[in-house]
Amino acid sequence: MRAVIIERPGSFRVDEVSEPQAGPGELLLQVGACGICGTDLHILAGEFPLARYPSIPGHEFAGSVLTVGEGVLGFREGDRVGVNPSVFCGICRFCRYGRANLCERGGGFGTSKPGAFAERVSVLAVNAYHLPDSLSFSEAAVIEPVSCAVHGMHRLAPRIGESVLIYGAGTMGLILAQLARFYGARLVALVDTNPARLERARTFGFDVLGAGYDDLRELAPLGFENVIEATGVTRVAEIAFQAVMRGGTLLLFGVCPPGEQARFEPFRIYNQEINVIGSMAVFNSYGPALEIIAAGGVDARRMVTHTFGLDAFAEALDTMRGGQGLKVQVLPG
Ligand SMILES: [Zn+2]
Ligand SMILES: [Zn+2]
Repeated sequence: MRAVIIERPGSFRVDEVSEPQAGPGELLLQVGACGICGTDLHILAGEFPLARYPSIPGHEFAGSVLTVGEGVLGFREGDRVGVNPSVFCGICRFCRYGRANLCERGGGFGTSKPGAFAERVSVLAVNAYHLPDSLSFSEAAVIEPVSCAVHGMHRLAPRIGESVLIYGAGTMGLILAQLARFYGARLVALVDTNPARLERARTFGFDVLGAGYDDLRELAPLGFENVIEATGVTRVAEIAFQAVMRGGTLLLFGVCPPGEQARFEPFRIYNQEINVIGSMAVFNSYGPALEIIAAGGVDARRMVTHTFGLDAFAEALDTMRGGQGLKVQVLPG
């Protein structure tokens, strides 16, 4: 079959590779759609510690079952499924104490195991979820990024009627904003320095703000109860802290470069009882994300702006790097 192969950091090609098999407990899938995300760029650049080379990337995917491995219950040939790509060891302290996304040996399909920028991929059946007929493979490949955002919202746990401010109006910012509205926020606003992104966020019905601090104070003089950093820029994390209302929470959702330091005023955290929390990947949130999309809480179709065939992977990457659209997907079929 054909697949994208990253031979070593910095170089990839689309080529023939050996066919994956459905081992015991596994499903062999025909890949319908697979989204590109920032993690794929990190794997390509050699900046993702879990990656094993040569690597077949692609962790945001959906497809149909071709072969059902020995001992698998609940799936049949032809079933349409979405896949939670995260794989946990099940035996470290964090897995055993209900915090499996913090697993000491965590990995996944498209990171530590072969992924879905390929015609076919084999996955653990326990990671596969049946799709309703109403969801296309392309929409279902958006479940994974939504599931990261759902875990973020589980961590943030805003209350009905609160305000939510999101730094970063890219794909993840817009997904988080839709979830915040679905949660019953009274005010959802996004901050970005890119006017085109702000304009697009406006068409989704959200309040938008430039990077300036003054228009923010106009919209919410006391600050926001919930502030989400979704750019992965350390300096933005510092700025986002300033926008938190007394007693409010800052969620660090974006992936800031490891090792960088941010400056917060400890007095304010003490005196104003500010919470600063993080959210890491997917945890008990893939099923909820699927159901939220099926219920219309996130418009998955609108999140996909570009699709390419497998052989146009280079072009797909350039489009993703260009930052013009939202989700860029590869449709290997
Ligand atoms: Zn991703
Ligand atoms: Zn573990």
